[in-house]
Amino acid sequence: MKQQILILGAGFAGMWAALSAARLTDDRDDIEITVLAPQPELRIRPRFYEDGVQNFAAPLLPLFAATGVKFIAGSASEIDVASKQVWYHTAQEQLAALHYDRLVVATGSQINPIFPGAKEHAFDVDQLESAARFEQHLNQLAQQPESIARNTVVVCGGGFTGIELATELPSRLRTILGDGASIRVVIADRSPVVGGRYSEDLSDVITQASGELGVEWKLNAEIAEISERGVKFKNGDFIESNTVVMTMGVQASPLTAQIPATRDAQGRLHVDENLKVVGQEDIYATGDVAFARTDDKGNTALMTCQHAIMLGRFVGNNVAADMLGVAPHPYRQVNYVTCLDLGGFGAVYTEGWDQVVKSTRAEAKKIKVAITNELIYPPKAEKEIAFAAADPLAPFV
Ligand SMILES: Cc1cc2nc3c(=O)[nH]c(=O)nc-3n(C[C@H](O)[C@H](O)[C@H](O)COP(=O)(O)OP(=O)(O)OC[C@H]3O[C@@H](n4cnc5c(N)ncnc54)[C@H](O)[C@@H]3O)c2cc1C
Repeated sequence: MKQQILILGAGFAGMWAALSAARLTDDRDDIEITVLAPQPELRIRPRFYEDGVQNFAAPLLPLFAATGVKFIAGSASEIDVASKQVWYHTAQEQLAALHYDRLVVATGSQINPIFPGAKEHAFDVDQLESAARFEQHLNQLAQQPESIARNTVVVCGGGFTGIELATELPSRLRTILGDGASIRVVIADRSPVVGGRYSEDLSDVITQASGELGVEWKLNAEIAEISERGVKFKNGDFIESNTVVMTMGVQASPLTAQIPATRDAQGRLHVDENLKVVGQEDIYATGDVAFARTDDKGNTALMTCQHAIMLGRFVGNNVAADMLGVAPHPYRQVNYVTCLDLGGFGAVYTEGWDQVVKSTRAEAKKIKVAITNELIYPPKAEKEIAFAAADPLAPFV
C-alpha cells in the first residue's frame, strides 16, 4: 500500500502544498498525494469584493492530473489523530474515511458573524457563495423603492477587505442605481483614525482615496446590533441601511480545534520552522490555519494569500522531505508587500513591514491587476511549469 500524504483544502496553501509535495516525490510510486476539498477549483478569494464573483474560480483537475495529485471531493468533519484518519462527507452527504501517514491542514479561514443579528441580516464577501448572495442582493436594489436605506451600504470593518469593498462600491452602486442616485457608503470601524492599523503613509492614501470617492468613515464605532433596518452602535447611533456587510471576525477553519496543539487568538495552529504543528509528529498546518514565523525579527505570517502561497510551497516540500528522510527547507518569507485596490482612485502599493508607499493611483492599479488577475492563479497544467513554480526557493515577491 502506498504511503499517504493527505492535504485538506484546495485553496492557495493546499494547491501549492500538493504541487510542491508532488515535485519532491515525482520519482516515487510508493507515495500518494491526495487533496480532499469540496470543489476541485482554486477560488480566488482576493477578488470576491469585485463584481462577477462567479467567474473567480480556476479549475484544478487538469493541473492535478498533469502532476500526479489525486483529488477527492468532500468536506472533512473529523480528524482522528490517534488512528491517523480523517472522516469526511462526500458530495452526496455520505460519511467516509481516509487514512494518512502525513496530514497537511490547509482548510483556510472563514468569517464569524460576531455581532447580534449579523448571521441573519448581514452579508459578507468571504466565500464564493456568500459573495454571490451579496452580489445578487446589490443587483436587486434597483427593484426596491428609492429610500435612504436602499441607497446606503454599511461596511463593518476598516481592514483591507473592508476598504477594498467600500472603495469599489460607489461605482458598482451607480451602475445599478443610476448616476443620479444619492448613494452613501460608510465604513464602520472601532479605530479612532482612518486605516488606523496601517502605516501613516498608507493610511494617508486611504484617507485621500476615501475623500475623493465619497466613502465615509464612522470611527470609534462599536457595533451593538445589526437588524433588517440597519446598524445600531453602542453609543446609540443608528445607520439606516438595507445592505450591511461584515468584513471582520475572520477565524481559522474550525477543524484546527480538533488537533491537540496551541492555537492563537484567531484559532491558527502554532507551527515550527518546517510548518509541522508543534507537539504533533505527523501533522502540518499551512495558509490561514498556520501561525508561523516569517523571519528572525518577530514577524509572523498574516492571513493573506501572499503568505498562503509560500506557506503552501514550503509545507508541501517539507512534508514530502519528512517522508523521504531528506532535509527540509525551513520556512522563511522576509519580503512583505501590500497592494490595496482603491476603486476609482486606483490602488496603493507598499513595500516592507513598515508599509512604505511606493506607488499609488493608476500605476499601483496595474500592479494590483497583475497580482489578482495573474500572479495568484494556478500555474499552467504542465508538469515542468507547475513543479518549477512550486519550488519553495523559487523567487516570489
Ligand atoms: C474579500 C477578500 C479579499 C482578500 N484580499 C486579499 C489580498 O488582496 N491579498 C492577499 O494576500 N490576501 C487577500 N485575502 C486573503 C486570502 O484570500 C486568504 O488569506 C487565502 O485565501 C488563504 O489561503 P488558504 O489556502 O489558507 O485558504 P483558502 O483559500 O480559503 O482555501 C481553503 C480551502 O480549504 C477548503 N476547505 C475548507 N473547509 C474544508 C473542510 N472541512 N474539508 C476540506 N476542505 C475544506 C476550501 O474549500 C478551500 O479549498 C482576501 C480574502 C478575502 C475574503
